[in-house]
Amino acid sequence: MKTLIANGYLIDPSQGINTGGKNLLLEKGRVAGVFNRDEPWPEDAEVFDATGLLVAPGFIDMHVHLREPGQEYKETIASGAAAAVAGGWTSICAMPNTDPVNDSPAVTRFVIEQAQRAGLANVFPIGALTKGSGGRELAEMGEMKAAGIVAVSDDGKPVGSSEMMRRAMEYATGFDLTIIDHCQEPSLSKNGVMHEGRWSLILGLKGMPAAAEEVDAVRDCVLAKLTNARVHLAHVSTRGALDAVRRAKELGLRVSCEVAPHHWTLTDEAVSDYDTNTKMSPPLRSRDHVGALLEGLRDGTVDAIATDHAPHHADEKALEFDQAPFGITGLETAVGLAFELVHQGVFDLERLVELCSTNPARIFSLADRGTLRPGAWGDVTILDPDYEWIFDVARSKSKSRNTPFSGRKMKGAAVAAIVAGRVAYLHPEFTRTTAARHQNYQPK
Ligand SMILES: [Zn+2]
Repeated sequence: MKTLIANGYLIDPSQGINTGGKNLLLEKGRVAGVFNRDEPWPEDAEVFDATGLLVAPGFIDMHVHLREPGQEYKETIASGAAAAVAGGWTSICAMPNTDPVNDSPAVTRFVIEQAQRAGLANVFPIGALTKGSGGRELAEMGEMKAAGIVAVSDDGKPVGSSEMMRRAMEYATGFDLTIIDHCQEPSLSKNGVMHEGRWSLILGLKGMPAAAEEVDAVRDCVLAKLTNARVHLAHVSTRGALDAVRRAKELGLRVSCEVAPHHWTLTDEAVSDYDTNTKMSPPLRSRDHVGALLEGLRDGTVDAIATDHAPHHADEKALEFDQAPFGITGLETAVGLAFELVHQGVFDLERLVELCSTNPARIFSLADRGTLRPGAWGDVTILDPDYEWIFDVARSKSKSRNTPFSGRKMKGAAVAAIVAGRVAYLHPEFTRTTAARHQNYQPK
């Protein structure tokens, strides 16, 4: 099967491509090549007209929670993968805090099999750092890697013991696995439900200080130097944690980090009406921290945009703020929220592709992804930077509805997600447009 993505504006930072009028040919699930639009193409190729659209290597979300096995009422691998492709993500990386925890090759294989059955996005499992993510005994990273994990993490349960983190880094390095840490020093953040600051005082809610994240971020950078491990800090939300990453990079350490869209879009003021859709961990921060995140996104300190998609059942989020679980969905809103920054001039389209595709593939060593080099997987995200739309959570592909962004006006969206050469998602409004436009394209 051959697909020609015709006349798009192609951006692929891995090859330094940033130019219009390009045809991208996919064949047998792989990239066959990039050509000028006036070059001949195979007659039997199906044509996807990308005139006026941005064509990028498939977007990779490094941080999602799919809830299967164990909590399928919140989300399944199939429903999560459907939400992913609808949001423009051709690949998602699944955190291990399921029930049971993914700390064994059996669970790793189960996740991969369920993803293959769904046949939508690629799903790359992340294995637990410690058995049951209990923080006491290292998990069998080597066996899980052989089964298909791409990184290790106890995300959701910060690693309290620095000695355990050191040993985990040394162990993971032996398997060339990246360690992802949810930085949140447990004794400082204990019982906190929102950012500690003016708003937590006003609202009478227990706060989590920025220092809790910063202490762990600094520790992890120090340990990365000691062990030379590959360390990736998840959902960085504070100025101090970003400063630690910036310093680590200056020292040449193998440290990277991601930022989640809600952390740069909202501040802790959004908690003021006790809406549990503003409760997440790490929490929404104050304006100064948001400013630091935007600076990090602009100057290259931030490597990736990741959603931390964390679906919950409506009944659970309907509890009081103190009692409700942490987390919001994010797969279908991230690209729209990232385009807000493009339109505001925080970063350009090339940086957007780097943050959502090139860098995630590099950090997790995903072979032949995050690039449109000939021979790479035919994973492509096609975007319309100017498409105006309103996010309506009632139409979400996710099983869950927990988001503070329903009703938000967006400009810029993914219109298609192509996975291994197959159209896994096509925006309903673009089906007609492309069908009509196809008439203009005749093979030479
Ligand atoms: Zn998470």
